Amino acid sequence: PDCPVCLQQASYPVRLPCGHMFCFLCIKGVALRSRKCAICRQPISPDYLDKPTLVKVVSGQSSSSDKAPSDPPADEYVWFYEGRNGWWQYDTKTSKEVESAFKGGKRSCTLLIAGFLYLIDFENMFQMRRNEPGRRRRIKRDKPNADRKGVAGIRL
Ligand SMILES: [Zn+2]
Ligand SMILES: [Zn+2]
Repeated sequence: PDCPVCLQQASYPVRLPCGHMFCFLCIKGVALRSRKCAICRQPISPDYLDKPTLVKVVSGQSSSSDKAPSDPPADEYVWFYEGRNGWWQYDTKTSKEVESAFKGGKRSCTLLIAGFLYLIDFENMFQMRRNEPGRRRRIKRDKPNADRKGVAGIRL
């Protein structure tokens, strides 16, 4: 499905109660700002981001060892950011951007995540919102099968 916010193929597509579909990160950005569906303006409940309705339901047994279709191969490195009691994996697209900046030898890079600009600092290994320098989170580069809470705020 195409995402009406970023106009790309939706990554981690979710469906709102009104039936409209978006990337999880796109609607997260919208929800944090306006709390309304970007298309029909129907309100988004405050707990929706904690329990989003993922469009692609894993068929059969849904153990956490099941690989999501967009997961990178196990011999590649992916990026994680720190949560309250564990690590979240960046979404695949963001992780690839961070990895290519890291491999390019950059000391830092700037990314748009859920509608906010983030600074990724490779020297000190943290991320922060550009307009909220106080809110830093540690980041790490690890294998895709490292311990994680989920991907980009979606629990696995
Ligand atoms: Zn999108
Ligand atoms: Zn809607």
